[in-house]
Amino acid sequence: MSAKIAIIGSGPSGFYAADTFAKKMPDCKIDIIDRLHTPFGLVRAGVAPDHQGTKNITRQFERTMQNDAVRFIGNVEIGRDMSYDELKDLYDIVFLAIGAATDRKLGIAGEDLDGVYGSAAFVGWYNGHPDFVDLAPKLGPHGVAIIGNGNVAIDIVRVLAKNADEMEGSDLCVHAEERIRRANVSDFYMIGRRGAAHAAFTPSEANELGHLQDCHPVILNDDLSEAPTDDDPKSLKNKEKNLEILRGLKDQDRADKAKTLHMQFWAKPVAILGDTAVTGLRLERTKLDQGRVVGTGETFDIAVSCVISAIGYETQPFDGLPMNAGIVKNNDGVVESGVYVSGWAKHGPQGTIPTNRKESMEMAKRAMDDFAGASDKIGPKGLDKLLSDRGVHSVDFANWKVIEQREEQAARDGRVREKIVSF
Ligand code: NAP
Repeated sequence: MSAKIAIIGSGPSGFYAADTFAKKMPDCKIDIIDRLHTPFGLVRAGVAPDHQGTKNITRQFERTMQNDAVRFIGNVEIGRDMSYDELKDLYDIVFLAIGAATDRKLGIAGEDLDGVYGSAAFVGWYNGHPDFVDLAPKLGPHGVAIIGNGNVAIDIVRVLAKNADEMEGSDLCVHAEERIRRANVSDFYMIGRRGAAHAAFTPSEANELGHLQDCHPVILNDDLSEAPTDDDPKSLKNKEKNLEILRGLKDQDRADKAKTLHMQFWAKPVAILGDTAVTGLRLERTKLDQGRVVGTGETFDIAVSCVISAIGYETQPFDGLPMNAGIVKNNDGVVESGVYVSGWAKHGPQGTIPTNRKESMEMAKRAMDDFAGASDKIGPKGLDKLLSDRGVHSVDFANWKVIEQREEQAARDGRVREKIVSF
């Protein structure tokens, strides 16, 4: 009998593993289990609503679901509906693709004020993640500061700064779109604790900042002359390209753009100001000292009503899962005998969908190599019984297709779907 496999998490890492198992191990049984009613993880709830090209990756995942060996089981949460031990008892291979869904903390004064949000919550809010639809972020009356110089920070700037026409063809949720338009924020601050030559964002995302119809980017505290360095040639090339793009932005004519993106380099947040709600952000100028970012002691304040930290994520563990510094404790992806981890839960929140694809496929192959070849586990039948005994109402892929159809039918003009945000 071939392996019974549980994949926890239905984002790209989970689906690429499922595809590999299904193709390479005929007769295996694969259950993709997700705590949400909807599949596709970050593709649905993380990728920006105006990046539908990236979201189209789900077509590949649909093909994986055409294999009879693969089931999607939504609305089942490990740690709530069943334990980690029960999971291991039922399946030969447990493949954790649970991502990193919790915001890292800034660890500065004022972080609990009204108007401070982590990017997981904020991005989840505009993308219709059920956990965050009620966030109702306080966006005005002053500016919005976004901490971090990664692609998530750029996504947030774009979604907040684009007008309704620029969002044509997106799936920005109506609750978010209405709030963003009402707030009509005019000033965005993107805060990098290092310089432009060190920024984590990638060229195509940086380039989009130069094409916003209503928002003019201004580069502060960096003359863009520093030559980037990087041991990885691809990263070095990206950094050089970033600088070229930023130099182009610096020379751009403001025209009649009413909004401003202040790209503030060499500054780190030291305190969020306000009594109960955010009124400002205190920044300290920074420099590099033997490769480390250090404060210079010189501080300055900016008036903002909202602070969004886009500084990375940690994995949310369930009971019994060994953790280490925000990721699942693992040895090259092996958590314990028969349990594997891949993607952001394995190495932290780095890498794009294609890089995580390669890694998930390799981890799945490793799991198959380790499998002894004879299964003595109950697998899917045991899961069905356990869920039924506990009255857990799971969602299958056919149920999801109904949800998807309803979302597409409910789309407003110029939008591709209106997500159902509570179940
Ligand atoms: P990221 O790329 O790691 O960027 C995090 C940023 O936060 C960095 O600029 C980092 O600065 C800064 N930071 C960290 N701790 C900080 C602190 N305490 N104070 C101030 N700044 C701090 O993370 P991300 O933007 O969340 O993206 C996660 C991954 O998803 C990345 O691999 C990204 O490329 C990918 N992604 C891709 C796309 C896309 O392809 N379109 C879109 C979204 C996300 P330092 O560099 O100084 O550490």
